[in-house]
Amino acid sequence: MELLPLTSKKSNQIKDEWSQCKTPFQTPSLVRINNIIENLKSYSKTGDVSLVEKAYIFSAKVHQGQVRLSGEPYLIHPLQVSYILTQMKMDEICVATGLLHDTVEDTYASIEEIKTLLGTEIATMVDGLTKLSKINFRSTEERQAENFRKMILSMAKDIRVILIKLADRLHNMRTLEFLPAEKQKIIAQETLDIYSPIANRLGIDWIKAELENLAFKHLYPEKFNYLDEKIKTQQNKRNQYIEEVKKMISKKLDSITLCEEIKGRVKQYYSIFKKMLHQQIDFDQVYDLIAFRIIVGSIKDCYEVLGIIHSVWKPVPGRFKDFIAMPKANMYQSLHTTVIGPYGERMEIQIRTPEMQQIAEEGIAAHWKYKEDKEIDKRDGQMFSWLRQMLEWQHELKDPKEFLETFRTNLFPDEVYVFTPKGEVKAFPQGATPLDFAYSIHTDVGNRCVGARANSRMVQINYQMLNGDTIEIITSNRQNPRKDWLKIVKTSRARTKIRQWNRLEQQNDNIKKGKELCQQNFKKYNVDFTKLYKSGEIKKSGEELGFHDGQDLLAAIGYGKIPVNHLIKKFVPPEKLEQQQPIRQKKKPVKKKLKSPAQSRVIQVKGLDNILTNFAKCCNPLPGDKIIGYITKGKGVTIHTEGCPRLLDTNPERRIETNWTPDKEFTHTTKIKVICHNTPGLLAEISGAISQQEINIKGAAISTNKSHQSVCIFEVEVKNLDHLHDTISAIQHIKGVKKVVRMRL
Ligand code: MN
Repeated sequence: MELLPLTSKKSNQIKDEWSQCKTPFQTPSLVRINNIIENLKSYSKTGDVSLVEKAYIFSAKVHQGQVRLSGEPYLIHPLQVSYILTQMKMDEICVATGLLHDTVEDTYASIEEIKTLLGTEIATMVDGLTKLSKINFRSTEERQAENFRKMILSMAKDIRVILIKLADRLHNMRTLEFLPAEKQKIIAQETLDIYSPIANRLGIDWIKAELENLAFKHLYPEKFNYLDEKIKTQQNKRNQYIEEVKKMISKKLDSITLCEEIKGRVKQYYSIFKKMLHQQIDFDQVYDLIAFRIIVGSIKDCYEVLGIIHSVWKPVPGRFKDFIAMPKANMYQSLHTTVIGPYGERMEIQIRTPEMQQIAEEGIAAHWKYKEDKEIDKRDGQMFSWLRQMLEWQHELKDPKEFLETFRTNLFPDEVYVFTPKGEVKAFPQGATPLDFAYSIHTDVGNRCVGARANSRMVQINYQMLNGDTIEIITSNRQNPRKDWLKIVKTSRARTKIRQWNRLEQQNDNIKKGKELCQQNFKKYNVDFTKLYKSGEIKKSGEELGFHDGQDLLAAIGYGKIPVNHLIKKFVPPEKLEQQQPIRQKKKPVKKKLKSPAQSRVIQVKGLDNILTNFAKCCNPLPGDKIIGYITKGKGVTIHTEGCPRLLDTNPERRIETNWTPDKEFTHTTKIKVICHNTPGLLAEISGAISQQEINIKGAAISTNKSHQSVCIFEVEVKNLDHLHDTISAIQHIKGVKKVVRMRL
């Protein structure tokens, strides 16, 4: 849907207003295709306008009969957009696309047709614009605005698509007053939130300024009119002042340098308004309404002029900014200073070269030399030659790489942006799936996710979400997380939640197994386990044995952490117990335990084969630790970790270089100390986390310290240092755990 044409008395009035604001380009109210072609020929290297002509004929054909609300032919809009693109000195492909930008969205024309007639490049861009036009930015929340901007930038594979979109929005804003008031406000706000910041990011100053001022006018008409009136009534006086200051400046500069241009202008309405709002002041209190711009031939001259200005008028402290040495991310360069002018008023002065001026106005469009780099483009199959050109242009910068990085991440983030059904935007890493989306909403939504709709179309849970998709999650109460989901999801949140669920699930399994084991074993002594369980006896025993409750105890039994006899002992006299062998669990939950081979094969001692080695008890080294051997008298080599205090006490001459034999795996016993809150269920969670790492718990001791925290020491069997660290970090992630350390001695 497009907005309205421009040719009416009212819109001409707006243009007059703009002539005092900063609009470097005048657009004729009636644009004909010849105007566009003339403009294009004036700067195009190839001078080939046949594509533009073809696009015009096609656009006129498909838009034929369509009128805008004003009754004027629809074609006026694409012509205006294309004309703006020639003002930005875009190449012919881009200008032609401007003529076609609404054809697929608003007429019966198809992408295929455009492809056949005008080629893939134009068709791809029209397709991109059509997709962009379908996005509906329903949420006006400020925090969403940046996501919207990123979404637009990342959706456009070709930067020209964004430039066309900006030209489109500019013409729509220029003709906004024909729409119903309510719609005007929505579109003006969207312009302020999304499109003017994009223009700013791309460094196209005049589009940014015009979009802002037009949005301001429609959002706050009274304030706009107030400012306008104020500024107009003092216009003559101000013009005199501007002329006076200009003369003073040029007189001072004449003796030193050739000044190309001195300009004085009233600052943009919107920026004055922002200043009033921000500083809570009235119009009459805004002193630096006028900004002067001095354009000189070289960078050296810029600094020289600055020196002269500062010697004539006193600079306001803290207002000098050197954007020449440190350009803005959008490539803007200039010197800015504010001085106390001839009447004691503040004046802002900008000093720059003609090149800098061009970049300030046109931004990346100033670097538009697309055609010249055609060869490079083909090779790369990319259309980002402007990035390279910027890099070239930036060669004087201290760190052009960093600059480029900023730009690239801003334009093509490794993220996808998708909508919730309510119109909120959520960002995900590239390749993220509906599962990630579901877990980002709520753990339960994730756990119950069976599929999703992307733009109302059914998709699988492993569907890779695309920019601009609206995602709706389908859940089922019968669904549970599966382990293979871990391979599908891309966000750590989803991964953690799936793991947590699996751990919980395993715990439930263990409880079930434990219960079965108890029932079988208690039966042999004619004790009714179920009765004990129901009466709370088992819970009590669990607590006595250091578990949080009966469930935890049963889980430990089911898991094989403690033998079932531990519990039976409490209910059956010892002499009876000895007569029976307990029924053991058939299947061990822990994966095959690695055997301990002779230590000598695990350790390589420099220059010595098959020597007897043993591990020092003081530091208990694990594969992965840096180790040093100590040659004992008669007991072979004792292996210490590097830095072990005991080792430091020994005779250095007896130390010998030792290494772990690579790929020799066996388990080592080590101790982990966990300090945690004395909260119910926490111990079970910790042992769960340990078993999750496929670690056998050989023993556990629990005590309470002075601050009433639980101190748990787990004796575990690990493969190596990494294995231990993984375990420690898994425990650290449990809520309520204060500290986890590897214990030595
Ligand atoms: Mn349009």
